[in-house]
Amino acid sequence: METKAFELTKLAYAADALEPAISRQTLEFHHGKHLAGYVNNLNNLIQGTDFQHRSLEEIVLSSDGAVRNNAGQILNHNLYFEQFAKTPKSVPTGKLAEAITRDFGSFEAFKDEFQKKGATLFGSGWVWLSADQNGKLVITQESNASNPIQQGLRPLLTFDVWEHAYYLDYQNRRPDHLAALWQIVDWNVIEKRY
Ligand code: MN
Repeated sequence: METKAFELTKLAYAADALEPAISRQTLEFHHGKHLAGYVNNLNNLIQGTDFQHRSLEEIVLSSDGAVRNNAGQILNHNLYFEQFAKTPKSVPTGKLAEAITRDFGSFEAFKDEFQKKGATLFGSGWVWLSADQNGKLVITQESNASNPIQQGLRPLLTFDVWEHAYYLDYQNRRPDHLAALWQIVDWNVIEKRY
């Protein structure tokens, strides 16, 4: 039977393109070491199993333990790294902008709540903006490797609050790192996911 291995996603920007929000050093460790590690782990764990023929989403929804943790981290990081750009569209427009105003009051109010939920997430995890089946927007805190698809939500935007995402640049100042990430979020990407 044909074997399939997951591959480390390629970045659409240079390693220093996201500075100062994410330094070259942080990006090289985060993508080239941490994410690459999850990819290697998952490929080793699923070798010779039916999971080799499934998508990351399918694996996350149907596995547990180390397989789900590593598949979840790959899925989360792929969404994370894909949403940034050196010259991003800095504010949402259209249908997504209307939904943000409807569900949070304003874009500024949304950003405040998103940052606060990221700053107060205890331990390692991810803060997410997702849409439910009716297009209503929700912000959730997910521990460790969890993804909103496990609650039937469609993930749109995420900030990684594991220390490896910011510690080289920001040390204990997680809130400052989260505030800086708005400079590199490309709302073109988020609008396409909505
Ligand atoms: Mn990470």
